[in-house]
Amino acid sequence: MAATVREVLGYLNEIAPPQWAFPNDPVGLQIGDSNQSVERVLVALDPDPRTVTNARYRQCQLLVTHHPLIFRPLSTVRFDDPVGMAVQSLCEAKIALIAVHTNWDVAPGGINDTLAELVGLSEVRPFGEGPARQEYKIAVFTPIEHVDAVIDGMANAGAGVIGLYRRCAFYTAGTGTYEPMEGANPYLGQVGKREHAEEMRIEMLVPAERLTPVVHAMLRAHPYEEVAYDVYALHIQGQHALGRVGTLPKPMLASELRDYLAEKLGNPYVRVYGKPSKLIRTLAVVGGSGGDYLPDAQIAHADALLTGEVRHHHTWEAWARDVVLLEGGHAETEMPGTQRLADRLREYLTPRGVEVFFAGGET
Ligand SMILES: [Zn+2]
Repeated sequence: MAATVREVLGYLNEIAPPQWAFPNDPVGLQIGDSNQSVERVLVALDPDPRTVTNARYRQCQLLVTHHPLIFRPLSTVRFDDPVGMAVQSLCEAKIALIAVHTNWDVAPGGINDTLAELVGLSEVRPFGEGPARQEYKIAVFTPIEHVDAVIDGMANAGAGVIGLYRRCAFYTAGTGTYEPMEGANPYLGQVGKREHAEEMRIEMLVPAERLTPVVHAMLRAHPYEEVAYDVYALHIQGQHALGRVGTLPKPMLASELRDYLAEKLGNPYVRVYGKPSKLIRTLAVVGGSGGDYLPDAQIAHADALLTGEVRHHHTWEAWARDVVLLEGGHAETEMPGTQRLADRLREYLTPRGVEVFFAGGET
């Protein structure tokens, strides 16, 4: 048994839609053939030469990494350059490469949710600016007796979610009129006769990544031969919040929190900037390079921000904003979420006879 690269990518697009990535973040299939058959997959943080060697050694046909290999278009592929070397090695062994980057940072259960869980936060909520979220409004005209079935169909395909409410819809009654032509098979009315039908106009919100499945579900649930519906792109875009903020198991001084996080992350070198005597109850987390989220952490009333790596100016900004900044290591803050990605892929691929390996220990 096996899966194809396309099927694995389809699953990854379900749990971390590419539309959730930041602009110009090259997520998805970077190298390879979507029709290729896959029996063994390696999941890792980076597509570095060591990981590529590991994938070759395990005879994998697919490598899934958090960080993309090709960030900017390559003008050359030189085998004496680290990126070119990895490209050459993957191509030579016919190993496909998929990157799941900022779309996995923001995804439910992704990098930042996993990090929040690892450090023991409760009452976790999203915070901080993230990638723009394009949404659509779908309006469909349906007979009154089919309103619930059409709403259910669309809701089950991902329409109508507003905050913590699902199946959100609005409907208004009206009259639809039409005249079936020769060859038509109308649900209501007769060929050649003008019909006036009592209908409902149903409106629901649809995120961009669910638009096609929602339209298909709506058509399946609708009784008409020809369904009248409109899709409007919404002008005001929402945002996916990148970070997570929550409550620590107990209040800690910044210096105690440093030791606590060092133990949780398995990194004795966690650094702390800001007032060491500050009492921290609420902690914000952003895996990777999240120093720029200090203003958002302050707005979210976080006492401290944990991220992977910071720039020098963040260290004094932490003092100025009175938000303690903890630098936990880029790999240390993203590896747990990368492992979670491997776990999710394993759940999906093991029943299909595909083996999933995780390269996590050797950062
Ligand atoms: Zn990263």
